Amino acid sequence: MRFNELKLSSEVLQSIEEMGFENPSEVQESTIPEILEGHDLLAQAQTGTGKTASFGIPMIEKIEDNNYESLQALVLVPTRELARQVSNELQKLSRNKKFIKVVAIYGGADMGKQLRELKRGASIVVGTPGRIMDHMKRKTIKLDDLKFLTLDEADEMFDMGFRDDMKTIIEKTNMDRQTLFFSATFDNNIKEFSKLYQKNPKKVII
Ligand code: AMP
Repeated sequence: MRFNELKLSSEVLQSIEEMGFENPSEVQESTIPEILEGHDLLAQAQTGTGKTASFGIPMIEKIEDNNYESLQALVLVPTRELARQVSNELQKLSRNKKFIKVVAIYGGADMGKQLRELKRGASIVVGTPGRIMDHMKRKTIKLDDLKFLTLDEADEMFDMGFRDDMKTIIEKTNMDRQTLFFSATFDNNIKEFSKLYQKNPKKVII
């Protein structure tokens, strides 16, 4: 399959070409059409399979120019390194949709800078659960009008003890969001979260 068979806009196809991607990876082939159709998704995929772009491409395709009136996508990740990496990839994928702003929110980084970035307006936030909780308490982030909620490396987040924070965050989001879970393994935690927080998810195992 080729990227131009995936019903993507010229802006997104151009970004993909500029990034040097020739064809969709296996996980991208099976997840992108489902996400574009509006389904929730439960995907088992390891790092290195192209999983970031598999949620990034359809998310960027569907984000609208709303003058930053509300945050449209939240991606929860276990570590600051992954927050940086994922936000970097999303920035590249969205470079031809200029209105899209991606902000990375993680612990150990300058709070003032994150506050200014959030205030200027964000379309997508990529963040670690602890620091997202801090912003929720300060009321500097609002999660009640999301189009997408994504958990990336969900099993890692459970292993790192973020389960309660993840629950608190998800329960503050609007119910009519699209919910995407990516995990290298399917254990009881992810199965329970899927039952609690997803609607008829499509399951993809790579
Ligand atoms: P990930 O699994 O998301 O960490 O991606 C692993 C690496 O593969 C990253 O450097 C991506 O930029 C790259 N990548 C993702 N999708 C593709 C693709 N379709 N073709 C070539 N490289 C890709």
